[in-house]
Amino acid sequence: MKKRFSFIVTLLVALPLYSVNNMAAPLIDLGAEAKKQEQKSATTSPVAKEKDQTTKVADHQKKAEEKPKAKPKPKKPPHWGYFEKEGPRYWGELAPEFATCKTGKNQSPINLKPQKSVGTTSLPGFDVYYRETALKLVNNGHTLQVNIPLGSYIKINGHRYELLQYHFHTPSEHQRDGFNYPMEMHLVHKDGDGNIAVIAILFKEGAKNKALAELMPYLPTRLKKQEIHEFVKIHPAKFFPADKKFYKYSGSLTTPPCSEGVYWMVFKQPIQASVTQLEKMHEYLGSNARPVQNLNARTLLKSWPDRNQENPVYELY
Ligand SMILES: [Zn+2]
Repeated sequence: MKKRFSFIVTLLVALPLYSVNNMAAPLIDLGAEAKKQEQKSATTSPVAKEKDQTTKVADHQKKAEEKPKAKPKPKKPPHWGYFEKEGPRYWGELAPEFATCKTGKNQSPINLKPQKSVGTTSLPGFDVYYRETALKLVNNGHTLQVNIPLGSYIKINGHRYELLQYHFHTPSEHQRDGFNYPMEMHLVHKDGDGNIAVIAILFKEGAKNKALAELMPYLPTRLKKQEIHEFVKIHPAKFFPADKKFYKYSGSLTTPPCSEGVYWMVFKQPIQASVTQLEKMHEYLGSNARPVQNLNARTLLKSWPDRNQENPVYELY
């Protein structure tokens, strides 16, 4: 009475734009733009809020007698910055929730020392499924940030990390053999459990950078206001270097609260931008790079083998 069924299963799978590690040729995945989340605009004017503060003294006293003061709103995290008493040296003391900035042992950024890092042949790469999306920029007071709507992601070992935003630091935060580059870009991803993976791209002086040139005319002039340019479409993967080899280590956010457990991948090859572009970005951002942190017990891995590991393909580099 046995019956045999055979199934042909058809899987519709999105193909990665890039498969980083095996260096496959880029596959194009320019699916339809997810337009769902484009309709957020309502913001209340902070000016209007602040105007309402001229209360009569008498009224004020009455209220104080009648009932206890309403509970204060949840405390805002303290202000932090890059200079003097608000600078990186003091972040860990500015608030209890920033303590990891001082006590953490797995902090970022770090000095990348190729000679002291460990070559690998089996480090998981990442597949890139980014989309071209309308430009959404915000100057959050610490950096220039490009916000990304849901739908762009990477996969590490098949595990999905959604691209949330990318932003810039001048000069670079990571060093190479003790030297900073003029700029660094961080693409920040998060998985369903809140784990963060960051791809870092270093910039060096050279040819004009086309992707950067696309967004630079739109640098926001207001603070903390997202500006949307529906007709300016930028594909984040346009910033990627040709050579997809990368350093990998476990680190932290480079800004308070300096949370650890961040999966860092820093491309080995810096990309180029013109002196004019880099100067303008520095002028716009100011200096917003945290100094390098101790490696402590961590190992810096390379996604490529050491020269003494036999793999002649990589000898070309
Ligand atoms: Zn950053």
